[in-house]
Amino acid sequence: MKHYIRNKNLTQKLIAAIILYSFMLLLLTGCSNEKTEKLQKEMDQIVSEHEELQKNYDNLVEEYRDLSAEQEILQSELQVKQEENQTLQTAIDDLNAQIAALQPLQEQCSTLTAENESLKAQMASIQSAQTQNNTPASSNSGAQTASQTDNQGAMVWLSETGSKYHRINNCGRMNPNKARQVSQVSAESSGYGRCSKCF
Ligand SMILES: [Zn+2]
Repeated sequence: MKHYIRNKNLTQKLIAAIILYSFMLLLLTGCSNEKTEKLQKEMDQIVSEHEELQKNYDNLVEEYRDLSAEQEILQSELQVKQEENQTLQTAIDDLNAQIAALQPLQEQCSTLTAENESLKAQMASIQSAQTQNNTPASSNSGAQTASQTDNQGAMVWLSETGSKYHRINNCGRMNPNKARQVSQVSAESSGYGRCSKCF
């Protein structure tokens, strides 16, 4: 009997414990459900953040590839330009060498130009001497005084040898390089006679 009562007590205690345990279990389950949901949410957020980061990473990789391709294109263009530059440099060097080779010709050209100028001046002086000498010849038939005044300014040519004065510096066999020019008056006063071929 005593044993039974004890047993009954124990059963009651057991039931109370079971109820308490169930209650705590319920409480814990509720709690853990809430925690799980929170964790799940955080998980989801992390996953979506991770996905976004992955997308960004993929974009960056693509951009990097594009830039690499562009850089390769620019690199090859640069190489082409450098080759062109080298070709142009060679052409410039060639032209510089040609210019240097032309330098002596340039000097010859200026020497010839100077000679040409001096020959022109000589020509002009010969021509003016000719016109001066022509004037008295054409006006010889006119007044004698006028003719004589004209003759005073006129210039004539004397050959290296010979006793005549000439209107031109290459009359007959005379050497024009050795002929000298004097005024007609001084030629006459020195005893030279007028050449009948050119006057
Ligand atoms: Zn003569």
